[in-house]
Amino acid sequence: MEIIIAKNAGYCFGVKEAIQRTFHAVDLHRDKRIHTYGPLIHNPQVVQKLESMGVQSIDDIQDGKDSIVIIRSHGVPLEVYEKAKENNVEIIDATCPFVRKVQKIVYEYHQKGYSIVIIGDPTHPEVIGINGWCDNKAYILNHVFQVDSLPNFDKLCIVAQTTITSELWNAILKELNHKAKVVEPFNTICVATRERQSSCANVAQQVDAMIVIGGYHSSNTQKLLQISKKYCKYTYHVETAEDLPMDIIEKMNKIGVTAGASTPDWIIKEVIEKMSSMDQNNNERN
Ligand code: SF4
Repeated sequence: MEIIIAKNAGYCFGVKEAIQRTFHAVDLHRDKRIHTYGPLIHNPQVVQKLESMGVQSIDDIQDGKDSIVIIRSHGVPLEVYEKAKENNVEIIDATCPFVRKVQKIVYEYHQKGYSIVIIGDPTHPEVIGINGWCDNKAYILNHVFQVDSLPNFDKLCIVAQTTITSELWNAILKELNHKAKVVEPFNTICVATRERQSSCANVAQQVDAMIVIGGYHSSNTQKLLQISKKYCKYTYHVETAEDLPMDIIEKMNKIGVTAGASTPDWIIKEVIEKMSSMDQNNNERN
């Protein structure tokens, strides 16, 4: 069996940075309570590890009163910083620079009187955070058909959740161009996402089956799944090595592997090792 690992699989720059800063903070501030604002990353195994080190996740900044709170790479609405000050919360800000850029664009164009459209998932923390930089006034679209229900605008600023597909961006942008006299589009899909998605597509076209590793609630992992399924019928989503469909994998000659931005290297390694050792055992038996 041949296993092809897609380039750019696993932790992206922003997630790596957030994790490093969290572990560093735990080391440095042993006498202080440390929280993360929401689960640090969409990976239950990493979240459990942090909990075992005493780092709890909170959903309301006021619950972090007099403690250190780490802002994860998804970022937060502007008002969270203000509430943090009022509650004597020390912020460690691990907002990814790519997300920060989107927040700044939205803030600036909202101030200039533009209406704002965010193309992305309205329930995703990154999108909720970005919307909080334009007084929560953004129109949030996840499907092309939603454009029909929008009013017409004078001036429109359009940004993307950093992990959406270029396909979705292009399709919605095409329709939005007819909705305003002035349109300012900012394709803010991050470079790491673009590279991960295109290497996923590339590998999916070459293999019999594709394994996509990542948290079941991770939005960027879901996107990889969608992309992979387009090219490879036998695409499977696993969170850990235990979820691998071994009876199916056994019958395949070429397996592709990719992983979402919040998947730790050790989980990728375990998945690959489990498939390789099954293959080795089968070869020895034959
Ligand atoms: S996916 Fe992109 S924007 Fe999001 S944290 Fe990673 S590098 Fe930053």
